[in-house]
Amino acid sequence: MKYKKILKNIQEKAKIIRRPIRLMELCGTHSETIAKYGIKNILPKNIKMISGPGCPVCVADQSDVDIITGLALSGIPIACYGDSANIPGNLGSLENARQQGAEIYIVYDISEALKISKKNPDLIFWGIGFETTAPMTAWGIQNGLKVFSSHKIFPPAMRALLRNNKIKIDGFINPGHVSVIIGAEIYKKFKIPQVVAGFSATDVIKAIDMLLDQITKKEKKVENEYARLVQKEGNKKAQKLISKVFEAKNARWRGLGEIKNSGLKIKKKYKNQDAEFIHRELIAKIKKNIKNKPSVCHCGEVLQGIIEPKNCPLFRKVCTPDNPQGACMVSREGSCNVEYRYG
Ligand code: SF4
Repeated sequence: MKYKKILKNIQEKAKIIRRPIRLMELCGTHSETIAKYGIKNILPKNIKMISGPGCPVCVADQSDVDIITGLALSGIPIACYGDSANIPGNLGSLENARQQGAEIYIVYDISEALKISKKNPDLIFWGIGFETTAPMTAWGIQNGLKVFSSHKIFPPAMRALLRNNKIKIDGFINPGHVSVIIGAEIYKKFKIPQVVAGFSATDVIKAIDMLLDQITKKEKKVENEYARLVQKEGNKKAQKLISKVFEAKNARWRGLGEIKNSGLKIKKKYKNQDAEFIHRELIAKIKKNIKNKPSVCHCGEVLQGIIEPKNCPLFRKVCTPDNPQGACMVSREGSCNVEYRYG
């Protein structure tokens, strides 16, 4: 269906629905598409898009940032993906630690971290990301890599969003990358209109049209607009790899707090590669000495869709991609960063 035709459908359905509708996109790449192509501006007034906790760097909890930076400042060599090095914490960021002499390696894939660890056996890789990056970290662990895991599982966060009375959501655009791994069927347990979508502008407006269609018909089901890549059951091989190496644990998400069984902990079998076990005494010391600095960053509310980045008093004035005051400005997938570049 052509773009213009889909937009016309959206306008007609919005007129039938009449009441305000809030649709949440759950992937940072969707937020980027929405901002880049000005999709918010072409939607009818009663249809509002809000960004959810779909950027893995943004949802990394402050305590994890502090532990990994504390380890780096204590002389442990750390490898991580690019954006993660810039998340500000109570001890600064990994990038700040590097400026103070810490050994920090920015890697583009897990095999690069593995290569460095062969020469530098004390190296710890900081594993961040959802089900999308967890299989690669699992592969790294199976091949001898030591890891501090901040990996998270997405569906428990969706449940937490739906249980939060402060957040009103009429439908989800489910995360495309995560769904390639976990499949589309898994979302059936959430009784709300949902569409798994791809990342082009047409994919996203098609998904909005499909959600409005469900809302007009009072349906609450899962549809798959991204069937060219997302299968019902997902990628079984990747799921198996995750479950061989990790087990679920309660985890803290920035903005959402602790969510039951939403994190991935390294299994006991691999405890000698688990930074939480290897450096347990040092980590206990780091945690004890951390003093939480007062912060005016509103990232937590942004991640829940309670406020928009422009409502944060620091947005653009103090907080910019070159001088991020919070995690949501760090990653190119973060809502504040996206809004800064395209808003
Ligand atoms: S603009 Fe900066 S300080 Fe404000 S919420 Fe976003 S990341 Fe935090």
